[in-house]
Amino acid sequence: MPGVQLTWLGHAAFRFDTPSGKRVYVDPFLTGNPKCPASEQQPERVDLILLTHGHGDHVGDTVDLAKRHGARVIAPVELRDSLELRHGLEGGAGSDPNKGGTVDADGVKVTLTDANHSSSDDELNYTGEPVGLVVDVEGAVRLYFAGDTNVFGDMHLIRRLYEPDVAILPIGDHFTMGPREAAVALELLGTQRCVPCHYGTFPILRGTPDELRELAPDVEILAPEPGETVEV
Ligand SMILES: [Zn+2]
Repeated sequence: MPGVQLTWLGHAAFRFDTPSGKRVYVDPFLTGNPKCPASEQQPERVDLILLTHGHGDHVGDTVDLAKRHGARVIAPVELRDSLELRHGLEGGAGSDPNKGGTVDADGVKVTLTDANHSSSDDELNYTGEPVGLVVDVEGAVRLYFAGDTNVFGDMHLIRRLYEPDVAILPIGDHFTMGPREAAVALELLGTQRCVPCHYGTFPILRGTPDELRELAPDVEILAPEPGETVEV
């Protein structure tokens, strides 16, 4: 089975193409993201957008991209409602799960997991609870995007239930876990590969992939530069 080419767009933003050719964005904070390459800020194609929570550094360009490209947006129910009510997002039928629920978007199965963080829009309106995402990419690979979170013991349930192949974890510290907690998260998840994110965007997000490598020597830490692609 071919792998999936995962491109880091800086911060917690990613894109990848599915084996059948759909282009998927996760937390597309593109314009305004100091680490997103200029060449990535105006996507030529967007089919599906997945969101973890309502903070501006994750929702990013979602509404604009959805309107421009007709992309489907899957987001936790209150965040989805908020984007519809306040920002005119359309086409929400079936795209508003909550934790424990799975949406099958034409072979991309998206399951919402727990995450320990907060969630609101830029005006501090409620946007539901933050989530992580387990994404089964047409049977090719299972990716776990932790979203913004600390480490928590129930990550072992994510392992037991979904057995993700790759963990995409925040490591920047301050607003999320840093490398020390991420190393324990990898123990709980049992994944052999990790793509760190949510670091280096601003000086305060100080955790580094090298720190994580030291603390999790048995895990392959893939650390692309913003705009670079890794096969997962
Ligand atoms: Zn964040």
